[in-house]
Amino acid sequence: MNSKIDIKTKILNYINGKFVEPSGGQYLDNMNPAHDKVYSLVPASNAKDVELAVKAAQVAFTTWSKTTATVRANYLKKMADGILHQLEKFAEAESIDSGKTLTLARELEIPRSAKNLNFFADSIIHFEGEIFKTNPTLINRTEFAPLGVVACISPWNLPLYLFTWKIAPALAAGNTVVAKPSELTPMTAFLLAKICDEIGLPPGVLNIIHGLGPDVGAPLVSHANVKAVSFTGSTATGRAIAQAVAGKFKKLSLEMGGKNPNIIFADCDFEKALEMTIKSTFQNQGQICLCGSRIFIENTIYEKFKIALIQKTEKLKIGNPLDPANDQGSLVSKAHLQKVSSYVDLAKTEGGRILTGGGEAAQQGEFTNGYFFQPTLIEGLDFKSRTNQEEIFGPVATLTPFTTEAEVIEMANSTNYGLAATVWTKDLEKAKRISRQLESGLVWVNTWMSRDLRTPFGGVKESGYGREGGFEALKFFSEVKNVCIQYTSEAVL
Ligand code: NAD
Repeated sequence: MNSKIDIKTKILNYINGKFVEPSGGQYLDNMNPAHDKVYSLVPASNAKDVELAVKAAQVAFTTWSKTTATVRANYLKKMADGILHQLEKFAEAESIDSGKTLTLARELEIPRSAKNLNFFADSIIHFEGEIFKTNPTLINRTEFAPLGVVACISPWNLPLYLFTWKIAPALAAGNTVVAKPSELTPMTAFLLAKICDEIGLPPGVLNIIHGLGPDVGAPLVSHANVKAVSFTGSTATGRAIAQAVAGKFKKLSLEMGGKNPNIIFADCDFEKALEMTIKSTFQNQGQICLCGSRIFIENTIYEKFKIALIQKTEKLKIGNPLDPANDQGSLVSKAHLQKVSSYVDLAKTEGGRILTGGGEAAQQGEFTNGYFFQPTLIEGLDFKSRTNQEEIFGPVATLTPFTTEAEVIEMANSTNYGLAATVWTKDLEKAKRISRQLESGLVWVNTWMSRDLRTPFGGVKESGYGREGGFEALKFFSEVKNVCIQYTSEAVL
């Protein structure tokens, strides 16, 4: 297959509208995880590069913050058009960078990245303050204003999808941005910078700095002139960021880890629940924060559901992520492969029985050293075991039977996380009852990952702090001011 991206690409930072080398001249290897081979170089930037980017963003803010919503919306739409125009190139880059299947990148993630930009381009046109008429002569006007320079930090699992999910509302609201994609998956952010260049986005409005978290992310979030931090990644990093900015009174939005329950009642639509559980467990090799990793099955259908789930899991095809015949690609990195593998070992020591999978998925030829792991199902673990409490973030899920609603609620809510839950039942009163009791920012009933971008997105407990999506995101990236005016006679508005 002819690659549409230059495999010798040296990625550059994008600062003040220019593509620049990192100030220290150092680069990191960017691995193709399906091959275990270096395929490009990523800048190993540092605080000096962050300083340059923040300065450029500060200068750009004076003009960008005064543009009309329509002007900003048009730039976002041009960015979206640019992505869609090169859909295949972006999808391939995402697949090669992360090990995800080309099909997933092409059909879901890259189109959604363009949708994020278009969505916030449309939303900003409808985003207005409110007027409260306290009495005929006393009027309160709430007005939104951009914050200044904001930081957007994103992870490797849905690279461009989550990068655009942050920069789109930030830019739409009139802020200028310093963004840091994951050092493991930098390619599509680099391609997006090229689009910004082509469409003439004013210099300094969006700056993209590549490099390691401690070298780039840490100085960025702590920078005195960065007014807000929007972060998606692990709970450990989210906690480190919260600690680093404590006392600095920045706005903070943290989207973090999960250990999502998938609750299957006996009265569900069996086939639909089964089909979707395969997806919600193994899509993107289980490396989606919304994937269910603890499957609770009502005991009267436990054995039947378990056997059907094993059969379907074993039919998943693993291999070359660029081959449309494959359902599963590779994991993102060797370190992550080792982490996932170590959790399966832990499950065994905790008394878990491996129902299917359980080890690396051997490949041939150029993929022999790739980071492929078998879709794995485990049963027989206590719900309080470490395997059932800690985030694995790979193609590994546990199966646990339950008898009563109270029992499954207790087990589902037993972790420190609370991002997303899935409930399968035809009894919608029961679904509502269960949903109300689940400690979770998102609940899907008889579906999974159905998204309406207007709705609030985020987790509770150690999964999230704040909400993204729709007007929530635009409010996060804005300062609200209330102006109260006393008129001498009845106000005509
Ligand atoms: P990570 O926390 O290791 O890294 C995320 C980003 O933070 C990267 O760009 C990284 O370079 C940067 N970073 C690292 N240390 C930093 C520091 N000290 N200061 C500032 N930035 C720093 O996470 P990851 O491994 O890239 O992503 C996987 C995690 O993301 C999983 O826990 C997953 O659940 C979570 N996630 C959550 C959501 C959500 O919406 N809640 C969505 C996707 C992924």
